[in-house]
Amino acid sequence: AQVKPEQINTNMIFWLRIVVAAPAHSGIGGPLTYRSELPLAPGQLVRVPLGRREVLGVVWETLQDSGDLPPEQARAVLGALEAVPPLNASWRSLVAFTAGYYQRSLGEVALAALPPQLRELTAVQLARRLKRPQADTSSAETPQEGLTLSPEQTAALLQLSTDARPALLFGSTGSGKTEVYLRLTARQLARQRRVLVLVPEIGLTPQLVGRFATRFPQATLAVLHSGLTDTERLAAWRSTHSGSADIVIGTRSAVFAPVRQLGLVIVDEEHDSSFKQQEGGFRYSARDLALVRAQREGLPIVLGSATPSLESLHNAATGRLTRLSLPQRTAAAQPPTLRLLDVRGESMHAGLSTTALRGIERHLAADGQVLVYINRRGYAPTLACTACGWLAPCLACDARMTVYRQADRLRCHHCGAERALPRQCPQCGYAVKTVGQGTERIEEVLGETFPGVGIARLDRDVIRRNEDLHAVVASVASGAARILVGTQMVAKGHDFPALTLVIVLNADHGLFSTDFRAAERLAQTIVQVAGRAGRAERAGEVLIQTEFPEHPLLRSLLEGGYDAFAAAALEERHSAAWPPFSRLAALRASAPQAQTTLEFLQAAREAGEALDAGRVRLLGPAPAAMARRADRHHAQLLLESGERASLHRFLQQWVPVIETLPTARRVRWALDVDPLELF
Ligand code: ADP
Ligand code: ZN
Ligand code: ZN
Repeated sequence: AQVKPEQINTNMIFWLRIVVAAPAHSGIGGPLTYRSELPLAPGQLVRVPLGRREVLGVVWETLQDSGDLPPEQARAVLGALEAVPPLNASWRSLVAFTAGYYQRSLGEVALAALPPQLRELTAVQLARRLKRPQADTSSAETPQEGLTLSPEQTAALLQLSTDARPALLFGSTGSGKTEVYLRLTARQLARQRRVLVLVPEIGLTPQLVGRFATRFPQATLAVLHSGLTDTERLAAWRSTHSGSADIVIGTRSAVFAPVRQLGLVIVDEEHDSSFKQQEGGFRYSARDLALVRAQREGLPIVLGSATPSLESLHNAATGRLTRLSLPQRTAAAQPPTLRLLDVRGESMHAGLSTTALRGIERHLAADGQVLVYINRRGYAPTLACTACGWLAPCLACDARMTVYRQADRLRCHHCGAERALPRQCPQCGYAVKTVGQGTERIEEVLGETFPGVGIARLDRDVIRRNEDLHAVVASVASGAARILVGTQMVAKGHDFPALTLVIVLNADHGLFSTDFRAAERLAQTIVQVAGRAGRAERAGEVLIQTEFPEHPLLRSLLEGGYDAFAAAALEERHSAAWPPFSRLAALRASAPQAQTTLEFLQAAREAGEALDAGRVRLLGPAPAAMARRADRHHAQLLLESGERASLHRFLQQWVPVIETLPTARRVRWALDVDPLELF
């Protein structure tokens, strides 16, 4: 209801600036002014009217008066979510920094940082939901407080307690990084401080959650990830915010978790690309924000990895991060031996060389287990006509469809389109054959070659839920499966003590990509997959099939390890002025017509040129490598600068102009600051 001016007793009114849940590009950039009959503290969650809707808001600041807004035009707060204590100043400051850095509105960032149910529930419904959170903390590990630390672990802990700089904990798989996290956590808990642990994907690191739970049976754990139902997520968030959780373990968005009395931040597997949100409008790096958060709150932070990102290694080299190394594997484990297997002189069996098959035979005979890594799922990358050159195109994408033999389907990995697997060429009627191999095909070939041997497969087609993952991991751990075939998923976190041989198929993909990060990702994958071998007493063996055994990247990796590879790769980045030696942002757009996309990007470019671009270079627009995806045309404009500050100064002026471009309404667009993938 509208309020008449004379009804407002301005002495009895509290004026507030409130950040509201407004859709992106709605033109609502900052907080809006509301009035309230009750005093409300900054950080308080409220429900407020917005247009005809009622939305969630966060009180951002209190005001003396209604400012520029005539008092009678201010709308009233509908209610406060009193069961939720106000979000503190550090939380608000992280949100504000994030909005500025990634050029999003405060409302969009604040609301993305809060559990979705808060947006939907009324204050009354919410009061009823606020009970009970329990994390799944099953684990086989026994408490190990008595274990003697290695000299490197001791040195790392000492360093971390005396040096306030953020640290990079660089140690191979099994070198004892988790043990360091656990010791650091113990110290914080003893000081009544809480710990935030960021992990790439919860489902893929179940052992980590289990180890924290077992080590700290008295502590309360909250686990925050996207696999939770909205109700579970709200409960875990609440236990974080109320202070009942001592240890908060979560994926990407947990970087915004409002942990009270936070004492330490840990980012495990810091190189993992899933720390970067790569979809939608708000694209952020949780790893980078964790560093910002720790710095602003004056907290110690540890980034751990066996294969650190080149960014972090560079930061360590320039002194922004303290580098701590754990070179030795603990216990009796030996580092695996890596060998390049030149496939050019080999006879091949559906992608597996004779030498690789003999290796598998040998390791099985010696009671070992074998891992076969291939970065393609499905039966085969595509289906080809033997006569006319037809290659199973997706009708909506510039891509081939993948063959699924068991499901008897063709599927597009880019748009999800499916159709029945044709028996003959739909174009000319001749016979068709599969081209290349995926996990399903490798599993089939191994089944034929090693009858009676248990084989498990791990890829996104097999793993739909966490339980599926547990089942596969259990079958390998119990020895029921002696060969494991899988994609990148196999590289993460699992510990299979009897695994003695790892075979890497089609490594060559990453060697000749147009993406400047492809080599880094390939090296990380090889090292991570190799790290699965020989974790117990038995030495591991790693065979990498390649047609390019002389490739300098593979050579540096094999001869000098990840460190040598990283040094060589950083040299290359330096001479090409790629990150971390420059800063990038990508303006990406898509529309049903290529023309529309390019017109928008061209207009954005011209708008940029009209501003003072300073030291920012605008490159493009250029169509994406796969321009048509799900029937939309994708293209991008790249921005490059030697300095972060000039890039941000430019973005601040430029983004508001883009928002007003007439062509902006005809495309979907997003600005990606520090993009991980260029297409
Ligand atoms: P990472 O996290 O680097 O993979 P972990 O901390 O999981 O390494 O250590 C690998 C294995 O070695 C674990 O089983 C762990 O309990 C054990 N471990 C860690 N530190 C020590 C140590 N100082 N002495 C003996 N065993 C250790
Ligand atoms: Zn044909
Ligand atoms: Zn498609």
